[in-house]
Amino acid sequence: MSDRVYPKDAGWKDMAAGGVIPQAGNAVEYKTGGWRTFRPVRNNEKCINCLQCWIYCPDDAIICEEQTIKGKPYDLDHCKGCGICANICPAKCIEMKVDTECEN
Ligand code: SF4
Ligand code: SF4
Repeated sequence: MSDRVYPKDAGWKDMAAGGVIPQAGNAVEYKTGGWRTFRPVRNNEKCINCLQCWIYCPDDAIICEEQTIKGKPYDLDHCKGCGICANICPAKCIEMKVDTECEN
């Protein structure tokens, strides 16, 4: 976790000109999972572990350990439900389901 550059109550006058992000890696502090309407649900039986979804996920929300994602959960604090993983998946094994209808 990076140190926060701006205090939480910072206003627009406190921000760097042009909205420059002065510190790399601070996106982890913003839980984009709250934006989600749809949630990716993977069929691990059909997954061929090509890792295309892991490469393309813009939020690093696909957990990969020991070179596999099969059976691993999504990072739902950061998955915003964009559906890129489902769209890119060559095995078509990711279904986007209504988040509120999914079990946690
Ligand atoms: S829906 Fe989007 S944010 Fe969520 S895991 Fe797939 S690519 Fe990542
Ligand atoms: S893109 Fe599809 S087949 Fe490839 S690792 Fe992801 S879920 Fe599995």
